[in-house]
Amino acid sequence: MRKQDCVFCRIVRGEAPAQIIYQDEQVTAFRDLNPQSPTHVLIVPNRHISGVAEVDQEDAAVLGQLFVVARRVAEQEHVADGFRLVVNNGRPAGQSVFHLHVHLLGGRAMGWPPG
Ligand code: AMP
Repeated sequence: MRKQDCVFCRIVRGEAPAQIIYQDEQVTAFRDLNPQSPTHVLIVPNRHISGVAEVDQEDAAVLGQLFVVARRVAEQEHVADGFRLVVNNGRPAGQSVFHLHVHLLGGRAMGWPPG
């Protein structure tokens, strides 16, 4: 996957449509196209990282910022009392877009274990 063709890279650059609800120098948060809960936001690093299996030590700061922004989004969306963060890694685990992203799901009760 070339970065030019990556849909999340294109959203970060403003070249593909998305409902962006937060953006800074490191990360972007936008609403999932196919929401699985009343609140379903994707939080992505602006720089292309294909998945958790590819992260390096140098990515530590941006990975931390994903969680800082998750808290901020949860508060903004009024789901801070109960939300779930999901990161699928690899096709067998359900990853379909190979640009690392944190799903923030909230607004409904959730079961465990996840499917
Ligand atoms: P995953 O299966 O963990 O890789 O999650 C990919 C997520 O990206 C899915 O929940 C899709 O609904 C979502 N998605 C794919 N394309 C777009 C897009 N253009 N804008 C917003 N969400 C998208």
